[in-house]
Amino acid sequence: MRNALCFFCHQDLGQQYHQVQTLGMDKHVRQAAELLEDTALLAQLSEGDMMAREAKYHKRCLTFLYNSARAVSETEKRGTTYEIVVSSVVLAELVSYIEGTTDDKISAPVFKLSDLVKLYTQRMKEHGIKLNQRVHSTRLKERILAQFPNMQEHNMGRDIILAFEDDKGDALAKACEYDHDNDAVHLLRAAQIVRRDMFTEGQGFTGSFSDKCQENSVSTLLMTLVSMILEGPSIDSPRQRSAASLTIAQLLKYNS
Ligand SMILES: [Zn+2]
Repeated sequence: MRNALCFFCHQDLGQQYHQVQTLGMDKHVRQAAELLEDTALLAQLSEGDMMAREAKYHKRCLTFLYNSARAVSETEKRGTTYEIVVSSVVLAELVSYIEGTTDDKISAPVFKLSDLVKLYTQRMKEHGIKLNQRVHSTRLKERILAQFPNMQEHNMGRDIILAFEDDKGDALAKACEYDHDNDAVHLLRAAQIVRRDMFTEGQGFTGSFSDKCQENSVSTLLMTLVSMILEGPSIDSPRQRSAASLTIAQLLKYNS
């Protein structure tokens, strides 16, 4: 007879066993089974309410189940906290990146939301957190807008553009046209910045561009520029840089 066995371990009940007496227990056991993804137990539970079926069990088996479930739920909680902390750090890096771009008056302070989401998602992935881009883009937009009171969103075709209020007209126009003069100015500036950096004894890269990054610049800037050319712009840190970037940066440094 099935009731003579423990509901959980399917062993002989012996002398010391309990019978399910409360309606709530079925629910608690089910929650634990779901947390543990214990499909065998879930299948067993789907056959009917434990109390109605007069299920019997060893107390130690129930305790073991509950303890295992609690351990899993605590690990999940810790994981969530880690994600929140990392997400704040990455947002700060993104804000710093936006500020850095805005400080540079030559370029238009306009950002495509999809680009920012990409940067954010990539960075989170580097920290071992996988995100669904679609789910997170609205939330990220709100978080960015909260950081910049004078920033506004605009729909441009399929893209959402984030632009600063003050420079809106100018910035939108700039973002839409290809400006050769600006490109030349950018190249010149980039070269100047990197040259100054190459002849300065550097400090470590903290993982983001501060507003003083040019003054405190290090050969990391050179690495960053080379990486941007090789791999495209990103808010990533030096540890992601490839060997090719390093080699090219070294060639530049020792030949200038
Ligand atoms: Zn048992």
